[in-house]
Amino acid sequence: MVYNFNSGPSVLPKEVFAAASQAVLDFNGTGLSILEIGHRTPVFQAVLDEAVTLLKDLMALDSDHEVLFLHGGASTQFFQVPMNLLDEKAKAAYTDTGVFANKALKEAKLFGTVDVVCSSKEANYTYLPKAFSVDPQSSYIHITSNNTIYGTQWQDMSVLYEKGVPLVADMSSDILSRQLDFNRFDLIYAGAQKNIGAAGVNLVVVNKNSLGKVSRVLPTMMDYRHHIEAGSMLNTPPVFAIYVCMLTLRWLKNMGGIAAIEVENNKKAALMYETIDALPLYKGTVVKEDRSRMNACFVIEDKQVEEEFLALCKAEGMVGVKGHRSVGGFRVSMYNAMPYEGVAALADLMKYFANKKG
Ligand SMILES: *Cc1c(COP(=O)(O)O)cnc(C)c1O
Repeated sequence: MVYNFNSGPSVLPKEVFAAASQAVLDFNGTGLSILEIGHRTPVFQAVLDEAVTLLKDLMALDSDHEVLFLHGGASTQFFQVPMNLLDEKAKAAYTDTGVFANKALKEAKLFGTVDVVCSSKEANYTYLPKAFSVDPQSSYIHITSNNTIYGTQWQDMSVLYEKGVPLVADMSSDILSRQLDFNRFDLIYAGAQKNIGAAGVNLVVVNKNSLGKVSRVLPTMMDYRHHIEAGSMLNTPPVFAIYVCMLTLRWLKNMGGIAAIEVENNKKAALMYETIDALPLYKGTVVKEDRSRMNACFVIEDKQVEEEFLALCKAEGMVGVKGHRSVGGFRVSMYNAMPYEGVAALADLMKYFANKKG
């Protein structure tokens, strides 16, 4: 038995792997593989339509919010967002809360004025700053809802809602994991490979009323309005990646949707953090109130012992627990498709190892 705790690409439901493999051989009885069907065929259009409908339904989106499946990963959104929403003479507020947040603000500087309204860089991003002000004239405020590398997550969004400016969020690593009022956001983006599906596609949810306000001329492929008009088919979409997303969204709906998966995610995170806190061998790296329910980070002070535990994890089939180089130690990613049993098995191993080390 192997449990995949990788931060992304990451674990997906077994049912999704089974259905996706079947579709590679014969897609829905067409005699054709999902890898060779035309993207403008009715069979694929049905897949895309179902994925969009499932997302609108799961996220309870209103009619102003459009769902797009685009290429280029979340990293392309770092520049596509300001290209579409930040005028050259205007200003956007950015929260500097981690590696990806920092990359996003650097890209935004290419298009307008960036106001870094807060940063926890000096503390190696171990907390989320909350006491900061935002100029009401800002075109938007950009946040990273879950900082994948450091393991922090915005728990109480009201701090951000109160700022009174349009909200833009990189939700790559916690989208669909907890209930939020998604309609409060002007734009949400997420690489699919953490909680939505396979690598190769990213999700953009955009309030169409926020578009068309910048004066610059946009390349066709960079303009969200063209993608909305073309229904995410301005060019050949990543057919297979979108199919895997649709299967994962179907799975999530059958599980009871976001409300039900949030209960599971809370149980998994609670168990992991209880284990870290109960055993002095392990030290959580972020302040408790900002702990991520998706990525739990901890270290062991003795590097030699860290190596030993890593080797034990490997031997016991606990894959992908090594922390990012900027934090060190361990990072346990517990996305939607990670079963509670996986986290319980890792927690047991942590207890066993701590006891052995006395
Ligand atoms: C993984 C990740 C990214 C990068 O996503 P790509 O699809 O590889 O570009 C950006 N932001 C966050 C929060 C992430 O977790």
